[in-house]
Amino acid sequence: MNAEKSVAQRHRVVVIGSGFGGLFACKQLRKADVDITLISKTSTHLFQPLLYQVATGILSTGEIAPATRIVLRKQRNARVIMGEVTDIDVENGTVTSRLLNQDYVTPFDSLIVAAGAQQSYFGNDHFATYAPGMKTIDDALELRARILGSFEEAELATDPEVRDRFMTFVVVGAGPTGVELAGQIAELADRTLDGSFRNIDTRDARVILVEGAGAVLAPMGPKLGGKAQQRLEKMGVEIQLNAIVTNVDARGVTIKDQDGSERRIESACKVWSAGVQASGLGKILAERSKGTEVDRAGRVIVEPDLTIKGYPNVFVVGDLMSVPGVPGQAQGAIQGGTYAAKAIKAEVEGKQKVEDRKPFKYFDKGSMATVSRFSAVCQVGKLEFSGFFAWLAWLGLHLWYLVGFRSRFVTVLEWFVSFLGRHRGQMAATEQWVFARLALEALDDPVEARQLAKQIGGESSSGNGKSVANAEAGKSSQQRAG
Ligand SMILES: Cc1cc2nc3c(=O)[nH]c(=O)nc-3n(C[C@H](O)[C@H](O)[C@H](O)COP(=O)(O)OP(=O)(O)OC[C@H]3O[C@@H](n4cnc5c(N)ncnc54)[C@H](O)[C@@H]3O)c2cc1C
Repeated sequence: MNAEKSVAQRHRVVVIGSGFGGLFACKQLRKADVDITLISKTSTHLFQPLLYQVATGILSTGEIAPATRIVLRKQRNARVIMGEVTDIDVENGTVTSRLLNQDYVTPFDSLIVAAGAQQSYFGNDHFATYAPGMKTIDDALELRARILGSFEEAELATDPEVRDRFMTFVVVGAGPTGVELAGQIAELADRTLDGSFRNIDTRDARVILVEGAGAVLAPMGPKLGGKAQQRLEKMGVEIQLNAIVTNVDARGVTIKDQDGSERRIESACKVWSAGVQASGLGKILAERSKGTEVDRAGRVIVEPDLTIKGYPNVFVVGDLMSVPGVPGQAQGAIQGGTYAAKAIKAEVEGKQKVEDRKPFKYFDKGSMATVSRFSAVCQVGKLEFSGFFAWLAWLGLHLWYLVGFRSRFVTVLEWFVSFLGRHRGQMAATEQWVFARLALEALDDPVEARQLAKQIGGESSSGNGKSVANAEAGKSSQQRAG
């Protein structure tokens, strides 16, 4: 408001996270008389809804994850710093972040915490070794290498049992991500890879979608869930409902059925898309402020104005907030981030007092999921539709929300190639994409690190002294040999 104010006097807004909540909050403040510092542990704004297309070779990371500092380059009141936030002192108004073992303290007058959520394995974190989730670029690339690596191993396998294991893909969780992934793995096997191997027919691949509940896409209701299920089954995806995964190991998954019996699915390549856990910053906020609580998923139970009790300058938005009726979706984060930014702007401009804030109101714009090329399910209010027109709606909406002209342009080209033809432009995958995460995790445990190094450098089924991008990563070469 006041152009003469010196920079030192300006209201300082710190935003944690460069996802939907954080980025939209920053953009909403572009004309406000404030200094914004956006702190994020990732350098990009990640468009998570299209991660599965990176995992299955349709899009590159560049299209769905532009550098945040370039997105905000022209916004002069915003600066971007990279670092993982490790502490929030709401009393003294500081945020501590860490980059390469160095701590940085950033003071704030207002804070917007939009740190999102991670994969949840419901207390079985060791499943992650064999069944990565789908939350980050690393996850998507690792998954791509595991999927393609599995076909490579199948091509070389001489034992039919081993070959079948490499040709079986298990997706755990039949929410939108699970449905989209299962559909795309099936299309990859049936169309893109068809005819490119000599010993295997990729169309023989089994794609199994396992769901603990009794329906596919349960939150979207029986009609749309049923449509998605029918379409997937037509594509050859096997759907197993009321099936709870009780163990995941290098060679497959153990499943408990409704009648209490247990069975195995032998599979080298597994994907986990069954649950979410909010960022650990929720717990830190609860510990650092009196009266703030988190729910079972670690989300912060916020006041009607999305702030925490007793701190009207500390907002929590997006997947990290717990607000009845607001789903963990992009719209919830965008609307929450925009609401918080508007409240800060109005107060800085003297147009609104804290006590006059109107409660946050979520506007449900509906939800959708793609099942395959040319087929999606869509729900807008009471309107439910599926098939080609739903797919077109999905296409348009995703293009609209992708950040940057270049991303949109290249994405349209890639979709054109993938959906009309049968080729996919992003089929590169390396061994390191599979092993890097496991190697980094093992750094905490030198004994495990040595074992892992031995496994990685060990005998492989290809006999070249190095394993190809192996979907049974983390297990010994003897086990791999079947
Ligand atoms: C695979 C997948 C598919 C999805 N599909 C859809 C869909 O089709 N439609 C839909 O509406 N929604 C979809 N969603 C959900 C949607 O992406 C999320 O609801 C949305 O991204 C939440 O936004 P957010 O800003 O709260 O968190 P995020 O977008 O997750 O952003 C969190 C940010 O915080 C940063 N961060 C986290 N912890 C720290 C820390 N300690 N320090 C610093 N920075 C930190 C992260 O690096 C990231 O930049 C999907 C999600 C996934 C994973």
